[in-house]
Amino acid sequence: MTSVSLQNVSKSYGAVEVLRDINLEINQGELVVFVGPSGCGKSTLLRMIAGLETISGGELQIDGTRMNETPPAQRGIAMVFQSYALYPHMTVRDNMAFGMKIAKKPKAEIDAAVANAARILQLEPYLDRLPKALSGGQRQRVAIGRAIVRDPKVFLFDEPLSNLDAALRVATRIEIAQLKESMPDSTMIYVTHDQVEAMTLASRIVVLHGGKIEQVGAPLELYERPANTFVAQFIGSPAMNLLDAEVTETGSQTAVATGMGGHAPVPIASHDSDRGQKVKLGVRPEDLTVTASDDYLFSAEVEIVEALGETTVLYFKPQNGEAPLIAKLPGIHSIGKGKTVRLCASPDKLHLFDSAGISFLYR
Ligand code: ADP
Ligand code: MG
Repeated sequence: MTSVSLQNVSKSYGAVEVLRDINLEINQGELVVFVGPSGCGKSTLLRMIAGLETISGGELQIDGTRMNETPPAQRGIAMVFQSYALYPHMTVRDNMAFGMKIAKKPKAEIDAAVANAARILQLEPYLDRLPKALSGGQRQRVAIGRAIVRDPKVFLFDEPLSNLDAALRVATRIEIAQLKESMPDSTMIYVTHDQVEAMTLASRIVVLHGGKIEQVGAPLELYERPANTFVAQFIGSPAMNLLDAEVTETGSQTAVATGMGGHAPVPIASHDSDRGQKVKLGVRPEDLTVTASDDYLFSAEVEIVEALGETTVLYFKPQNGEAPLIAKLPGIHSIGKGKTVRLCASPDKLHLFDSAGISFLYR
């Protein structure tokens, strides 16, 4: 069942359009993550769903009902902010109960809802404390508890982990994943600029860039089949390498030559391409291996070596001012700075993009 539907939604501040042509269907029970660089419109889109921003064009539906003009309190949503936004003078219990008290719900119902949220979030020992006597992670759990108590149709999270330190972020991220599992029918929309959060939490990821949706898909679908160079480089760390290349064979398979002495068969069709066409060959750092063979993608001089034990990351001397190519090799290697090596990858790990940055798989 569709829970949230956005049809041709746009947002302008005066003459400045910050979101355009947003089309998205979110099903009940999904955890959809909006991810993208700072300023791409994630919060604006979430706030439009919440009713905290007006919708300039298009239609928003929640459970099949148009919501464009409905006040926030009547949309059946609950929002959790980065800043927690707890009432400092109220205990954890009262913070969580506040919304229901305002709505004049019976005391027994409020107590049961607060007890349920406290149990799910393991906040029972803290119910009588004030927010100032809690850690950042516990405060964020209270903010989530306040949302759970409202029993919303849709949970909205705007970068809820951004104020936590690295270790607490990981722990709280896992708690949110468990929370979602304990509430399989709840729909959640989660905004982050952190691709690890997106990859680990999402049933589907929506990649936003410059106010537009670049691609929607399951996390590994975006990793394995990015629709364009933006998604290819946004998902995965370090980012996918993009090599200038030229098509040498077209058809149901494609062959390319890189400008760096290498060549490769690519098992991707290119029926509508011509020999000599300029393309970008994509290969992830973790898919590269060092080879002595004449079958290689590129040959380059090692400029920086990062030996992390678990992996060795090689940064190659950039060609004509482009971003350095990167290889991420498992384990420990003795390759030193200044050495020139040949790199290859399994053909099924290669990606092909046209000069406009569109993947050959999606043309
Ligand atoms: P994100 O959450 O992805 O970092 P936002 O949704 O906050 O991005 O902002 C998207 C764009 O809209 C930004 O370019 C921002 O400057 C602009 N913007 C946000 N709020 C306003 C506003 N009230 N007036 C004008 N521009 C705004
Ligand atoms: Mg934001």
